[in-house]
Amino acid sequence: MSKDFLKGVKDSYDVIVIGSGLAGLTSANILARAGHSVLLLEHHYQLGGMATWFKRQNGHIFDISLHGFPIGMIKSCRKYWTKEIADSIVQLKGIRFENPQFSLQTSFDREDFTRILMEKFQIEPAAVQRFFDVARGMNFYDDQSKSTRELFAEFFPGRSDVVRLLMEPITYANGSTLEDPAITYGIVFSNFMSKGVFTFSGGTDRLVTLMKAEMEKNGVDLRIRSLVEKIEVTPDRKVSGVVVNDKRIGCRTLISNSNLKSTILNLVGREHFDPAFVEETEAVRLNNSSCQVYIALKPGLGFVPQGDLLFHSEHSGFDVQAMLSRNVSSRTFSFYYPDTRPGSDRHLIVSSTNANYADWASLSEPEYQEAKRELCDSTLACLARYVPNIHELVDHIEASTPRTFQHYTRHLQGASFGTKFEGLKVSRDLPQQINGLYHAGSVGIIMSGWLGAVNYGVIVANDVDKLLSLSKG
Ligand SMILES: Cc1cc2nc3c(=O)[nH]c(=O)nc-3n(C[C@H](O)[C@H](O)[C@H](O)COP(=O)(O)OP(=O)(O)OC[C@H]3O[C@@H](n4cnc5c(N)ncnc54)[C@H](O)[C@@H]3O)c2cc1C
Repeated sequence: MSKDFLKGVKDSYDVIVIGSGLAGLTSANILARAGHSVLLLEHHYQLGGMATWFKRQNGHIFDISLHGFPIGMIKSCRKYWTKEIADSIVQLKGIRFENPQFSLQTSFDREDFTRILMEKFQIEPAAVQRFFDVARGMNFYDDQSKSTRELFAEFFPGRSDVVRLLMEPITYANGSTLEDPAITYGIVFSNFMSKGVFTFSGGTDRLVTLMKAEMEKNGVDLRIRSLVEKIEVTPDRKVSGVVVNDKRIGCRTLISNSNLKSTILNLVGREHFDPAFVEETEAVRLNNSSCQVYIALKPGLGFVPQGDLLFHSEHSGFDVQAMLSRNVSSRTFSFYYPDTRPGSDRHLIVSSTNANYADWASLSEPEYQEAKRELCDSTLACLARYVPNIHELVDHIEASTPRTFQHYTRHLQGASFGTKFEGLKVSRDLPQQINGLYHAGSVGIIMSGWLGAVNYGVIVANDVDKLLSLSKG
């Protein structure tokens, strides 16, 4: 008989959280800590959503989305998680760019970028200073009509090399393009520029293990392999429960960390919303997806340090379409050294490229396997420029595609970074449509990535806490 993953579950909870991405986990932890009864339902066998890892023969552990996040994670983790989690966040100092326009290494903070822009790109100090000040001063309530392209044209006209330096890492970090609102660029870029790029010592598996322990301590009822099929709503538009693994469980409030569009259109159903809201939801654009190639070196073998993150591109200039193409010309290499997991002797490399779901969706199984093999081969060939004997060092190699991300996280089209900017308004408006129903997770570019997802989880948990506290009197 198959295992009952919902054994012992209660009939009803103050809050049900669907999905254990960083936003879902953070909301669940805060609300349980505040004394509410919380059930967290995750369809996968592992918690973390995109913040995940997998193990392979010979003890290799690959991180999926641990490439770098801004310093703000330290404060958020200390306040909403634990000191141990916050204290495990460490800086990555070697960020490299190798492309036909320039070759450089940076610590990726304001001071070093200012130096590079002035010395290497010969930009006037006053212009550099003004650009950083304007980017840092941007906030959500500013003019949203100005695009990132217009922002760059204002400060660095005709300088495609400068645009590439400033934009390429952000496009990798959240899929944004020059057409997205300048405020999304300004907020995310300034978050990184404040102090540089950070990572989690011990890897994603250690982070999620620590988070799980903290949630259990705070009383979150955690269930894996529990796929929510339906969110139940009363005729007077109040959330009342879910159907999961063929079982109904009641709730007073619900936070969906599932993809925004599938939450509204599939899990709840369009008939429960105002037609104009459904139209607005349908118009929300999904962000792009990703491909990755995971490469483990034979135990104990290594390579000469190559920095931590390497933005490699063979394209003549910055070009988002080229970055998404299956004909790969841009890759971000994350180099993991033994100190990523202190005590280990492993060197690993993960190559990430942005990708279009449509390019992978329609391939037949043999075509798909062949395309993945080609991706592995071309990645090794490219990597050989930096690690010349890579072919002799490899112990394990495999690839993931937009299809993989869709399968494991249930994001429509395997969207890696949620939705474009318009998704944020739809996500925030959800409780006005259905009382007690909330969404937390990657939307609107600024609420994406590890820091964005954690912080959005905090914002939504506070909203839910207020509603529950009011009704509990
Ligand atoms: C290849 C790649 C590299 C990345 N690199 C970085 C990086 O270096 N730095 C950074 O900051 N960010 C990075 N990101 C982005 C970052 O990982 C995500 O933005 C963030 O982790 C998303 O968190 P989330 O809370 O939105 O939820 P998600 O991680 O999207 O998780 C949603 C969860 O909900 C579950 N779920 C969905 N539907 C259901 C259902 N019906 N029932 C039960 N469970 C359900 C899913 O299984 C999943 O666990 C990367 C992403 C990708 C794909």
